[in-house]
Amino acid sequence: MSEVLAKKAAALDAADELAGHRDLFVLDDGVVYLDGNSLGALPRHVPARMQDVIAREWGQLRIRSWEESGWWTAPERVGDRIAPLIGAPAGSVVVGDSTSVNVFKALVGAVRLAADDRDEILVDDSTFPTDGYVAESAARMTGRRIRALAPADIPAALGPRTAAVLVNHVDYRTGRLNDLPGITAAVQAAGALAVWDLCHSAGALPVGLAAHRVDFAVGCTYKYLNGGPGSPAYLYVRDDHQPRFDTPLPGWNSHEDPFGMRPRYVPAEGAVRGRVGTPDILSMLALESALDVWDGVSVEAVRAKSLALTDFFLECVEAHVPAGRVASVTPAAHAERGSQVSLSCEGAGEVMRDLTARGVVGDFRRPDVLRFGFTPLYVGFADAERAARELAALLG
Ligand SMILES: *Cc1c(COP(=O)(O)O)cnc(C)c1O
Repeated sequence: MSEVLAKKAAALDAADELAGHRDLFVLDDGVVYLDGNSLGALPRHVPARMQDVIAREWGQLRIRSWEESGWWTAPERVGDRIAPLIGAPAGSVVVGDSTSVNVFKALVGAVRLAADDRDEILVDDSTFPTDGYVAESAARMTGRRIRALAPADIPAALGPRTAAVLVNHVDYRTGRLNDLPGITAAVQAAGALAVWDLCHSAGALPVGLAAHRVDFAVGCTYKYLNGGPGSPAYLYVRDDHQPRFDTPLPGWNSHEDPFGMRPRYVPAEGAVRGRVGTPDILSMLALESALDVWDGVSVEAVRAKSLALTDFFLECVEAHVPAGRVASVTPAAHAERGSQVSLSCEGAGEVMRDLTARGVVGDFRRPDVLRFGFTPLYVGFADAERAARELAALLG
C-alpha cells in the first residue's frame, strides 16, 4: 500500500506545473512544512532585498527614502499587488496595521454605512477569536448588539435589523470554506453589509471580491502570502463605498493633505482612507518583495493543486493511519474546503509535538485538532505522503 501511494505521489509531483516554485523558498530537505497557514516560508530573494532596504534606503538615503524609495506610497502600491490575488480592482486595497485593527476599521465602517435603526451585527460563531472580540467592542461603540451564529445559519437570521455581518472565509480550526457568494448576496438582499476575513483564503484560493460585490474585506499577509512574521494586513473597501467610508481611526496618513498638518480631518479619496499612522516600512517592504513569487501564477492553478494535495493527504491518512485514531473535521466536499486538513485526535497536543520531532511540522489547535496547512507553491505530493506515513508510525 505505501509503495503504491509513494509512486502515485511521485507521478503527481512530476505532473505538477507549480512544482518549480518550491525552489523560490528557503526550506530544509528533511522537513515537511505544513504550517504555512500560520507562518509562510521565507522566499529566497527577500533577505537580499531587505539588506538593500536597510543598508541603502534607510542607512544612506534616510529621510529621502519616503519619496525616493517610494516608502510613502507603499501601502497603496502593495495593496495593488495583493488586489489581483483576491479579485479586487486596483485602488481598492490598502496595506497596514494588523488584521485585528483592520477588522475594527471595516466593521465600524460597515455599520456606519447602515441605517441607524439596524441594530444587529451578526458574526460567525466559530470565528478566530480576535474578530469576535473586536466585533463585540465595535457593537458597544456603535450602539448595536452582537448575534453569533454558524455561518450557514446567517441567511435565515438576516432581516431589517441587520446592520452588518462579519464572517471568516475559511474557518481557521476546521478548514471549512464558507459560502462567500451566497452569504454576501443574502446579506445585501437584506439591505446589510458583508465584511469578510480572508486570512486563510488569500493566496490559497480564488476569492472574487469584486465579482461577488463584497462590501469590505480584511486579511493577513504572513500566512499564505509569506510576508514574514507580523507583516502588515490589508483592508479592501468596495469602490462605491470608498467616498462614504467613515473610518473609526482617522490618522494623518489618510488625510487628503497629510503634510498640511491641519487641525481638522478631511479624508483622502479612495482606499487610502484606510491608512492610519506611519506605516511599518520594513515589514511592508519584506511583504512587497515576498509577493514576487506570485508573478505569473494563476490563483485557479493554486486552488486546483491545493484540492489535489488535501485529497491526496486524506487518501494517505486513510490508507496508513490505523482506523479510529483520527477523524477529519475538514469538509470532504471541495466547495466547502479551504487549503488545510484538520484531524481530530486523542492527545493531539502531544501527537503534534512528536510529529514535529519527526520532521513533519503542522500545528495543534485546542481541544483536539491536528492542523495541516497545504501551501501549493512549496508543498508537494511526496510531502503529503510522508506526513501521513509519519503520523501513522506515531499512532500505529
Ligand atoms: C490569523 C488570523 C487573524 C490574525 O489577526 P492578527 O491581528 O494578525 O493577529 C485574524 N483573523 C483570522 C481569521 C485569522 O486566521
